[in-house]
Amino acid sequence: MEMLQIAGTVPEDRLPVQEIFGPVPQGEGPYTGRRACFIRLGRCNLHCPPCDSKRTWDTSRYDLAQTCPPRTAEDIVEAAGEHGAGAGIVVISGGEPLLWQRTTAWHRMLTALPGDVHVETNGTISPNEFTTGRIAHFSVSPKIGRMGAADPAKRRIRPAVLADFAVLAGQGKAAFKFVTADAADVEEAARLVRDHQIPHDRVWIMPLGDESAAWTAAGRDIVAQVMDHGFNFSGRLHLTLGVR
Ligand code: SF4
Repeated sequence: MEMLQIAGTVPEDRLPVQEIFGPVPQGEGPYTGRRACFIRLGRCNLHCPPCDSKRTWDTSRYDLAQTCPPRTAEDIVEAAGEHGAGAGIVVISGGEPLLWQRTTAWHRMLTALPGDVHVETNGTISPNEFTTGRIAHFSVSPKIGRMGAADPAKRRIRPAVLADFAVLAGQGKAAFKFVTADAADVEEAARLVRDHQIPHDRVWIMPLGDESAAWTAAGRDIVAQVMDHGFNFSGRLHLTLGVR
């Protein structure tokens, strides 16, 4: 199993942490503006060319032992507390954080973190029973178009996993976030939503762009199309504010 192979590179009682930061406003999706502490875990099972978190997985550029040193759950929770956990949401991001959900360190971290904990995932791994029970919100971002250009579709798009998250979306526990570069990407997102019975009102379309001017321009081009499909639109507030 891919998940266990990746997990085996880090001691069972630790998680690889690229960064813990906050408090900052959540910059994307339905919780935009919410006070948040972010925990960014290392490793990913995809290789998206526009990824803004390559320090979590790109071994061609980074020594992951340096960029994502293993830390105990207790250390992570203490650091999160120093960065706003307990007075806002905690967002576990990556990388792909669900790669770690079978480890004791994941269990201990989720048990000890205070308040509402969110997970940002690429939608290729279903949450297990413990994770589903503990996590208040899943932000699910399947990779399409330019984002998904480096990985074959069967690796990026896993129908059984999307079905699980579609159920959670219907229960209000998950939202889908598609990063799109252009109108063709929006149409690809719409096909996925239709094919996997994802509730339209739980879909956010977010323009690609790592600077405020770039995502704003891309957003102007697609916003009417997004509304026509019955989806929501997400900006990238953190880039506009320069907080991350
Ligand atoms: S799934 Fe997310 S973290 Fe992984 S490569 Fe793609 S954008 Fe980066």
